[in-house]
Amino acid sequence: MPDITTIAACSTALGAIMCIAVLLSWFKDGRPMQRSWQFAPFGIAVPAGVLLTYPGIMPGPLGLRLGWFALTLVYGAAWMAARVTAGRKPQPILMVLPCVAVLIFSATIGADDAIPQLRMLPRVLLFALFDGLAAREFLRMRHPQLQSATTLYWIFALFCVFELLRAPFSLSLPAPFGPEETQVWSIALFNFLIVLQGLLLGVFLTALGREQLAAQHYRLALIDPLTGIGNRRALDERMEALALTSRKEGCTAVAVLDIDHFKAINDELGHAFGDIVIAGAAMVAREALTGEDVFRVGGEEFAAIIHAHTPEAIMTRANAIRIAFEARSHVHGGLSRRSTISIGVAMLHLGDEAACFAAADEALYAAKRQGRNRVVMAKPVSVAPAKAIDFAAAAAAAAAAGRRASA
Ligand code: GH3
Ligand code: MG
Ligand code: MG
Repeated sequence: MPDITTIAACSTALGAIMCIAVLLSWFKDGRPMQRSWQFAPFGIAVPAGVLLTYPGIMPGPLGLRLGWFALTLVYGAAWMAARVTAGRKPQPILMVLPCVAVLIFSATIGADDAIPQLRMLPRVLLFALFDGLAAREFLRMRHPQLQSATTLYWIFALFCVFELLRAPFSLSLPAPFGPEETQVWSIALFNFLIVLQGLLLGVFLTALGREQLAAQHYRLALIDPLTGIGNRRALDERMEALALTSRKEGCTAVAVLDIDHFKAINDELGHAFGDIVIAGAAMVAREALTGEDVFRVGGEEFAAIIHAHTPEAIMTRANAIRIAFEARSHVHGGLSRRSTISIGVAMLHLGDEAACFAAADEALYAAKRQGRNRVVMAKPVSVAPAKAIDFAAAAAAAAAAGRRASA
């Protein structure tokens, strides 16, 4: 049967191994600030374990008191790790202050010669508080793409409930749960629970870091690098979201925009100048609508979702984009040039988005045929039954058909 010191020493050694594993797996990914805070609970756990296992290395009750102080800091640091993982600022003072208060309590009222029955209670309540605060941080992060945040929320919430449930027993159980003399089972269970929580934290924080990175890459994959607005894939997602949202009032339309005589700008002023004009068109459309509603779907072609109370108001909003673009001077390399844009608009009927795109594109090429620099509203499209649609592909096919028509 292992004795109390062996069990505590093994747990500390496990903590040290976890520290090394965490260091090796985390400190390569270019987020040193976040990673340092995430490492903190593991880093502090090792000296805490050493002091609690070998309190004799310090005079009198100091080793034990500092060991418990460090252990409360471990829970506080776990809360900080949760905070920085959720993208919030660390609050080291808020973490340290309650730990110092509990340290002072254990050196005064909770000391052996005062009310020893009470000495564990504040620590247990502090563990519960920090676990609860960490759970709250992970709860705020909950997102379908960040499943580990949900798991971490449940882990910390369950440990918080466990600490609260065991709080009343901290008046009578053997140490380290309560004030009575330490037993083998109590030290084994206590260390098992701490190592388990550390292990779960390490594993799921690592997984969460990967999920955050993947989510960031996914977001970047939806953005057009030249203009900073959404690309075809983002349009696809937006349309899918739109199909799921019930609109209570007003109407929605799809607009397809194409810069007029853009080839001439490229040919006369160069490709780089052309890029400035494309970025300018995106900016104008973005200012007129919201950022999420404009997409670059081709070289100098854009799609936009326009909401308004009436079809006339939709035409006014589309026309505002046209007017703003016409008024804009594009400047690059000491050269300046104005340009115009043609816009086709079609009212959006849920369940027939692909036909709506085709109609908007037809209207765009009608605008081109009528002399460019204008907005044309498509004739109403008949509503077909809902079916699975690749919206971006539909928009691309419609654009290709339009190009053939205008050639
Ligand atoms: P129209 O008024 O009929 O639209 O005439 P257009 O000259 O604008 O004709 P079109 O739409 O076919 O021209 C598209 C051109 O856009 C052809 C291609 O070289 C250019 N292009 C495509 N992508 C980019 C890009 O990222 N940057 C630049 N500068 N040009 C691009
Ligand atoms: Mg074009
Ligand atoms: Mg064009």
